[in-house]
Amino acid sequence: MVEGRFAGKVALITGGGSGIGAASARRIADEGGKVVVMGRREAPLRAVAEVCGGHAVIGDTASLDDLARAVAEAEERFGGLDVLVANAGIELFGSVETVSLGDWRRVFEVNLEGAMLAARASIPAMRRRDGGAILLLASVAALAGAPSYVSYLTTKAGMLGLNRSIAHDYGPENIRCNALCPGWVRTEMAERAIADIAALKGISADALARDMVKVYPLRRMAEPAEIAAIVAFLCSSDAAFVTGATLSADGGGGIVDVGTLQFG
Ligand code: NAP
Repeated sequence: MVEGRFAGKVALITGGGSGIGAASARRIADEGGKVVVMGRREAPLRAVAEVCGGHAVIGDTASLDDLARAVAEAEERFGGLDVLVANAGIELFGSVETVSLGDWRRVFEVNLEGAMLAARASIPAMRRRDGGAILLLASVAALAGAPSYVSYLTTKAGMLGLNRSIAHDYGPENIRCNALCPGWVRTEMAERAIADIAALKGISADALARDMVKVYPLRRMAEPAEIAAIVAFLCSSDAAFVTGATLSADGGGGIVDVGTLQFG
C-alpha cells in the first residue's frame, strides 16, 4: 500500500456503506484521507465510518438536498472536499418491453441523475480547494450488451458521457473526472444478481458464478479491495494528468471474442 496519498484530503463516497464504496472508503482512509460515506441504510454506513474514522450521512443520491447536506458536513467536519466517488447504484432487470416505467425511471434517478447531482453538489466545494477529483463507478455494462438489462446498461453508458462532459467543463479549474468500468465484483449487488439469474435458469448460484467468469482470462470475479485500489489511483495525484478517461477492470473480459473460444 502506498501511504499518505490522501493526507489532508477529504472524500465523499456515495453508496459507501457496502461493496466497492466501503472498500474505497477504507482504502482512502488507510492512505490518510478523511471520508464521508453516504447511503440510505444507517447501520452499514455507521460501521464503515467508525472503522475509517470518517462520518456517515444518511441520504439518497437522487436528492440534491441530501447531497448538499453531505458536502456541507464534509466541509464543517473536515474542512473541505477534494474527492467524489459517485458509486451509489442499483440494478433492476427487464427489456424494453418488460421493464416497468417506474423501475426504468428509478434506475436513471439513482445511477445517472444521482451521479450528476453528486457532481453538481461537490464541484463548488472542490472549486474552493482549487481543484478536485471525481470518479464515476460505471460498469462493463456500459461497453457491452447483456440480456434483460436495459435500464442498468443504458444508465451506465450514459455515465461515460457524463464523465467526458465533466472532464471538459471543469478541467480548466483543475477538477478531473474519470469513469471506472468493473466486471463482476464480489459484492451484495453481484450476489443478488447472481441469485436472481440462477433462480431464473434453475441452477445453483455457485454454478452460475463459476460459469459467468469462465471466459474471463483471469477466470474469477474481482474483490472489492481490488477495485478500490483503482479508485484510489484515479482520485490521487498519481493520476494528476488523467481526466475524461474510461478504464476497464474486468479480468480481461473485454478482450474476449466468444466466437473464437472454440479454438482455445
Ligand atoms: P452494493 O454493495 O450493492 O453497493 C451499492 C451501494 O449503493 C449500497 O451501499 C447502497 O446502499 C447504495 N445505494 C443504492 N441506492 C442508493 C441511493 N438511492 N442513494 C444512496 N445510496 C444508494 O454493490 P457494489 O457492487 O459495491 O456497487 C457499487 C457500484 O459499482 C454500483 O454503481 C454498481 O453499479 C457498480 N458495479 C458493480 C459491479 C459488481 O459486479 N458488483 C460491477 C460493475 C459496476 P443503500 O442501499 O444503503 O442506500
